[in-house]
Amino acid sequence: ATPIGLLVGSGRGAQLGILIRGPQVLEDTRKIDTVLLDKTGTITEGNLAVTSTVPAAGFDAATLLALAGAAESGSEHPIAHAIVAAARAEAPLAKATAFTSAPGGGVKARIGDRTVVAGRSSWMRENGVQLNESDHLRLREAQQTGATAIMIGVDGAFAGLVNLSDTIKESSEAAIARLKELGLRPVLLTGDNAAVAAQVASRVGIAEADVFADVFPEGKAQAVRKLQAEGRVVAMVGDGVNDAPALAQADLGIAMGSGTDVAIEAADLTIMGNDLNQVAQSIELSRKTLGTIK
Ligand code: ADP
Ligand code: MG
Repeated sequence: ATPIGLLVGSGRGAQLGILIRGPQVLEDTRKIDTVLLDKTGTITEGNLAVTSTVPAAGFDAATLLALAGAAESGSEHPIAHAIVAAARAEAPLAKATAFTSAPGGGVKARIGDRTVVAGRSSWMRENGVQLNESDHLRLREAQQTGATAIMIGVDGAFAGLVNLSDTIKESSEAAIARLKELGLRPVLLTGDNAAVAAQVASRVGIAEADVFADVFPEGKAQAVRKLQAEGRVVAMVGDGVNDAPALAQADLGIAMGSGTDVAIEAADLTIMGNDLNQVAQSIELSRKTLGTIK
């Protein structure tokens, strides 16, 4: 993705690999007291990998993965990339037609004469996939292990789970510690499940009370508005299509350079190195720069 933002501000910002959209941005950056962080691709690498498949009755693992991979082939989401890669490693992908997707929900497509739905449980419900108590139990069990568990539905029936895992960026823990040293409150905001979110938060030093999981894209923007209503000056850091409304709503939107164009366009500032240390550096830079001007 290429940032369309204007490169302005100090040469130091450019040296640090920070692209700023306009001169007002540094001024806004200085006032921030709360930093909302997306999980996937922001705190974590966003390079997910399929760790296991759990077929439901009537399905085998190979069919489950093949159908999920074909259905995900039209999606740009890191979850989709991982499922497609795992499926391709086993067999060539079948062709998908009538592809639809919802950011923060999942995908749906026709594969041959079957309708395949992949995503979270609310997405199953919206697309007429029947889930019973034991299916929900399967999902919770997988999530408790720390997996990002994706439900798969075929022709209205639950077909099983594809479980994925991500790795936390090596720099995230120290970067979040630095944000706290600067007097900022880090908050985790994710569309992923609560168990995964809690695990990631505890590893990088975000307080349990500052974790918001299972949040839909519009919910991310609402979380920003709620904190703003409490008088907080909020920065939002994200990379996905699902983060764009929150990036636009925040007092300062910060996009990852590796992120989607939609995120970069919604942001005020883009960090090119994808390292959260650059978020702290931007704030330090704005405080120093504006401190000397005044
Ligand atoms: P995050 O906040 O972690 O970046 P998203 O808002 O993009 O997450 O997605 C939230 C949830 O929606 C995912 O954990 C997953 O359950 C579901 N989801 C989103 N996109 C897809 C997809 N392409 N395939 C399957 N599930 C998806
Ligand atoms: Mg993300």
